Amino acid sequence: MTKNFNIQNLLRDNIKSLKSYSSARDEFQAASSDLVFLDANENPFENGVNRYPDPQQIKLKQRLSQLKGIPSNQILLGNGSDEVLDLIFRAFCEPNRDNVLTLPPTYGMYSVLANLNAIEVIEIALDTHFEPKVEAILKASNSHSKLLFLCSPNNPTANSFKSASIEKLIKNFNGLVVIDEAYIDFSKVESWVSRLAVFPNLIVTQTLSKAYGLAGIRLGICYASAEIIAILNRIKPPYNINELTQQKALERLNDPAQVSEEIQKLVQQREWLISELKQIAFVGTVYPSDANFILAKVDDANKRYSELIKQGIVVRNRTNQVGCENCLRFTVGTQMENIKLIKALQDLTGF
Ligand SMILES: *Cc1c(COP(=O)(O)O)cnc(C)c1O
Repeated sequence: MTKNFNIQNLLRDNIKSLKSYSSARDEFQAASSDLVFLDANENPFENGVNRYPDPQQIKLKQRLSQLKGIPSNQILLGNGSDEVLDLIFRAFCEPNRDNVLTLPPTYGMYSVLANLNAIEVIEIALDTHFEPKVEAILKASNSHSKLLFLCSPNNPTANSFKSASIEKLIKNFNGLVVIDEAYIDFSKVESWVSRLAVFPNLIVTQTLSKAYGLAGIRLGICYASAEIIAILNRIKPPYNINELTQQKALERLNDPAQVSEEIQKLVQQREWLISELKQIAFVGTVYPSDANFILAKVDDANKRYSELIKQGIVVRNRTNQVGCENCLRFTVGTQMENIKLIKALQDLTGF
């Protein structure tokens, strides 16, 4: 499909003809600061945030472009990845007609957004090693299948999918493949952003919520072809990234040493937690992790979950997800927090 790919064929009809809102700040960039801005009905008294934010987030994208080696016109920013994913649905999926494919157990937001947009979800469960069933996925897709969500490293299973499987899916799926790389910075696997030039139907999403430690500012990032980004730009709310978020994100992106130091610590703590968890009597399989969390099977997830709450430790009970019976998901915390967790689990064994 990659050969004669035409994004226009995937676009919703109403989006094809949509004229986007042109904001005051779109027409004149605040960069030329010698201008007198009497165009946007802002309050002129300076307090740092009295002006509307840059609707194109030029500085932030330039920095990301530098860091990732991707041109700015191939980057779109959203109010969290959640907004980015919602924009993708709204651009390409026709309500009550199209469908998307997800591979459970996975991030719950894909189906939430599908339901919100009246889009059918075709679920093809991962295999017992939590890898995509490539043939089954391709067989289940049809002419109304617009999006395939690959979460890699996957939440809640913590593994990265085999790159050969991902490549086969991108090459053979007749729609857009969205690779959610929320946890990529905790993994040794290379990001798929480096393959964007090869695959016109590839969209990669990342976020500042996890490795970058900025879940509170809500900043999601979408990398795709300039064509796809131009479409998403047409439908995004003009001021979707507020000024405080842009400032804080830029600050953090300008301190890569601090970010890598934290990632290194978390990866080290992850490996320690994995080895400790394996020694707890009621813990069964501890799955390998490419993320900042660990999935582990216990004897009775509901029971252990409640017991941990009583000890003041909140983990995520994933027992109701396909393939995750009696599994708990542990986020890697600080060294102190992780020691507390392991102590609490040891106490529960009765020692
Ligand atoms: C946490 C997470 C995100 C992040 O979403 P934001 O809206 O950017 O905070 C995205 N995808 C997955 C799979 C996640 O687990």
